[in-house]
Amino acid sequence: MGLLTAGRIPIRHGPQQACIRKAGQMARDILLKTAAEVHIGATTAQIDRLAAAEMRARGCKSAFLGYRGFPGNICISINEEVVHGIGGPRVIQDGDIVKIDIGIQYDGWIGDNALTVPVGNVEPDTMRLLAATEESLHVAIDHARDGHMLGDLCWSVENHVSQFGFTVVKEFVGHGVGRKLHEEPQVPNYGKRGDRPRLKAGMTLAIEPMVNLGSDKTRILADGWTVIATDRKPSSHYEHMVLITNGEPDIVTNRGRMFPHGTKDLVPRPISELSVE
Ligand code: MG
Repeated sequence: MGLLTAGRIPIRHGPQQACIRKAGQMARDILLKTAAEVHIGATTAQIDRLAAAEMRARGCKSAFLGYRGFPGNICISINEEVVHGIGGPRVIQDGDIVKIDIGIQYDGWIGDNALTVPVGNVEPDTMRLLAATEESLHVAIDHARDGHMLGDLCWSVENHVSQFGFTVVKEFVGHGVGRKLHEEPQVPNYGKRGDRPRLKAGMTLAIEPMVNLGSDKTRILADGWTVIATDRKPSSHYEHMVLITNGEPDIVTNRGRMFPHGTKDLVPRPISELSVE
C-alpha cells in the first residue's frame, strides 16, 4: 500500500533495527507462502484467507485490514489493477498477472512487501513489464545508501523502466516504514537527481515501483480502493523494505529475484524457489 503522508523521517538504532528485520522477514515469509498458492481457478478471496491464516500462525496481524477502512487482509490486484485490490469472488485465469502486497504488524513493528505472480501463459510484453519492474526495484535499492540523495533513488525507477517504453504510476508512492505503515519520507517512483532529503543510516524505506505497460494514468474503482490503469493495460508492482546502513543496503524482505537476469531472460523462477539469498 502506498498513500500520502507528512512529517519527519525516523532513524532506528540497534535493537529497533532488529525489530524491523524480524517484521520484514515475517512479511517476506508470508508473501512467499501466499504467492505460491496463486493458481488458475483460485478466487482472490481464497488467497486473502490463506494469507490471513499464515499471519495467525505466526502471531502477527494484517497491517492493511482496517487501515482507513480497507476491508482485506492483503491487497490482491489482477492485470490492469495497479494496487489496493480487495479479495473477492474473482477467479484467477490463465495469462493473468496477480499482484500480492502483504503488510503485517508484529510486536509493534511493520513488515511490508509485494510481488507480481505471472500465471500460466502470460504475454511476452507483460513478462517484460514484470522483469523491468523487478529490475527497477533493485536499481533503486542500490541508491538506498547513507549519504545518497532520495531524489536519485526515485529518479532511477522511472529512468530504468522508461527505456522499455513503460510508465510509472505517479499518484501512489513508496514510503518510510517502521512503527507505522506510512512514515516519512514519501518515495515516488520518479524524481529529480540531487533532490533532498539526504539518506542516513537507520532510515527504513518501502520502495515499490508501480509500472504500467501503457499510460501512467490511473483511477479508483467504485469500491473506493482498487486502483486501475485507465487504459486497462497491465500494471506491475514489486516492493521491498530496505534498511539503510553504513554499508550495503539491507533488504529486510529479501527473497531473491524472480527474474535473476532482468529483462535479458524472461523465464521467471517459480515462487517456490524464491527465498533468502
Ligand atoms: Mg508499501
